[in-house]
Amino acid sequence: MADLLLFWHRRDLRLGDNVGLAAARDRTSHLTGVFCLDPGLLKGDDVAPARVAYMIGCLEALQHSYAKAGGQLLILQGDPRAKIPALAQALGADAIYWNRDVEPYSRQRDQAVADVLKGAGIEFRTTFWDQLLHEPGSVRTGADAPYTVYTPFWRNWVKQSKAAPLPPPEGLNSLSDHQAAAAKAVGCIDLPSAEDLGFAWGNGFPMEPGEQAALERLEEFCDDDQAIATYDEQRNFPFVDGTSRLSAALKFGAVGIRTVWAAAEAAYDRSRSDETRKNVQTWQQELAWREFYQHVMYFFPALADGPHREPLKNFPWVNNEDQFAAWCEGRTGYPIVDAAMRQLNETGWMHNRCRMIVASFLTKDLIVNWQWGEKYFMQHLVDGDLSANNGGWQWSASSGMNPKPLRIFNPASQAQKFDAEAEYIRQWVPELRSVDTGALVTGKIGERDLGDYPAPIVDHKIQQALFKDKYKAQKD
Ligand SMILES: Cc1cc2nc3c(=O)[nH]c(=O)nc-3n(C[C@H](O)[C@H](O)[C@H](O)COP(=O)(O)OP(=O)(O)OC[C@H]3O[C@@H](n4cnc5c(N)ncnc54)[C@H](O)[C@@H]3O)c2cc1C
Repeated sequence: MADLLLFWHRRDLRLGDNVGLAAARDRTSHLTGVFCLDPGLLKGDDVAPARVAYMIGCLEALQHSYAKAGGQLLILQGDPRAKIPALAQALGADAIYWNRDVEPYSRQRDQAVADVLKGAGIEFRTTFWDQLLHEPGSVRTGADAPYTVYTPFWRNWVKQSKAAPLPPPEGLNSLSDHQAAAAKAVGCIDLPSAEDLGFAWGNGFPMEPGEQAALERLEEFCDDDQAIATYDEQRNFPFVDGTSRLSAALKFGAVGIRTVWAAAEAAYDRSRSDETRKNVQTWQQELAWREFYQHVMYFFPALADGPHREPLKNFPWVNNEDQFAAWCEGRTGYPIVDAAMRQLNETGWMHNRCRMIVASFLTKDLIVNWQWGEKYFMQHLVDGDLSANNGGWQWSASSGMNPKPLRIFNPASQAQKFDAEAEYIRQWVPELRSVDTGALVTGKIGERDLGDYPAPIVDHKIQQALFKDKYKAQKD
C-alpha cells in the first residue's frame, strides 16, 4: 500500500463514477485530492463569471464530499507545471493520478506537468478517460480513421458497449498534521470565492453546482413521465423546460458520463412505447454529439484556432462592430434573437434552439466572423466548453466538417415554429410584452409599438443573398 497518492481533479469535480479516482482508491485509502486554480485558464479574455462561480460551487461541494469520506481536497493557485510537482514532492507522494482531456491547452499542460514529474522521479498515472463513454480512437470508420461526420459516428458509437458507473471512494485517510503543514508551505490555500478571483456572479445557475445537485437533476429529468419521455417533441421550444440543463455539470464533471448514460438506458428500458423510446434516444444522440465534438477536437486540434474548411479561412466577413455590439446586447430589432441574447447575458445559459438561431443570425445575417460569437459565448456561458462551443459555431457558420446543406435560419420562421405564442420573446424582451403575438414572431412591429426597442438593423432577405454570393465565391 502506498503512503500517499494525490488525485488531481480538473473537469471531474466529483467523487462518484470517476475513473482515475477509482483506480487511485483501488491502490490505497491514503488518497488526497487536489485542484489547481490555473491562471492560464482564469486570466484569459474568454472567461465567464457564471462559469467560474459554478466551478467554485462544485469545488466547495467536492470539499464536503471528501471530508465526508474521511479525506481532503487541497486547493492550489498558480501554474500547475510548478505547483503540482512541488506539492507532490512536499508531501512525499508516491504517485499522482489524473484523468485525460481532449483540449489542446490541457494536453500541452499535462505533458509539461508529466515531464517535470518524470524529471523529479515521481510516478504518475494518466491513462484514464473519464469524461467520455468511448475514448478518442476507439470509434473509427471502416477505413480505420476518426469520423468527421456525426451520423455514421453515432451509428457506430451507440453500438459499442458502455462501461457501468463506478461507486464513490469511501474510507479515505486525511493528511497528517505534518503533511498538512507541508501542503500549506507549498502554497495550498482556502478555497477562494468567485469574487475573490475577480468574477462576481449573482444571477444563479440553470442547475445548482455540485455532484449531489447534478445527480438529483439527472434523476428528475430521467424519471418516468418526466422531460426525457417527451424530449424529442419538447426540446425545441425555448419557453418549455424540456431539456436536462445538465450541460455545466457535464462540462465540469459534476456528474459522471457513465452515470448519465445508465440513467438514460434505464429510462429507455422502462419505456412502454416506441414513442417514448424515440424520445429517450434523441437525448442519447445529444450525448453522442458531445462525444463527437470531443473526438474531433482531439484528432483535429486546429479546429480550436479557426475554420476547418479551407475556403472559409479567408472569408470576406463584413465585421461591423456596431452591429456586433447590438447582437451582444440583444438590440438587433429581431425579437427572437434579442430574447436569446438577453437570456444568455442574464442567466449565463441559452436554449440550444436559440444558440443555433443567434449563431446563424450573427454569421449569415450580420456576416460577422463566427469566432467573435464563439468568444462572446465563452465569455458568458456557464457551460462554455471548447469542443461543444467550437463545434456549434463551426456548424452554424458552415465552416466545420459537415457544411451541407448550407444552413441559413430565417429568424421569423424559427420564432413562428418554436415560439408561436411569443412567450419566450415576452419573457426576455419585456418592453415588447404588450405587442401583438403575430408582430413579435414575424418581427414586423409597427413604429408606434416600438418605443425604445430598435427597428431591425439589417434586412434578412438582403443579407442572406449577400452571404450566399460571398459563400459561392469561395472555392471548395
Ligand atoms: C453555437 C452553439 C454553441 C454551443 N456551445 C456549447 C457549449 O459551450 N457547451 C455545451 O455544453 N454545449 C454547447 N452547445 C450545445 C447545446 O446548445 C448545449 O449543450 C445545450 O443547450 C445544453 O442544454 P442542456 O444541458 O439542457 O442540453 P440537453 O438537450 O439536455 O442535452 C444533454 C447534453 O448533451 C450535450 N449536448 C446537447 N447538445 C449538444 C450539441 N449540439 N453539441 C454538443 N453537446 C451537446 C450537452 O452536454 C447537454 O448537457 C452549443 C450549441 C451551439 C449551436
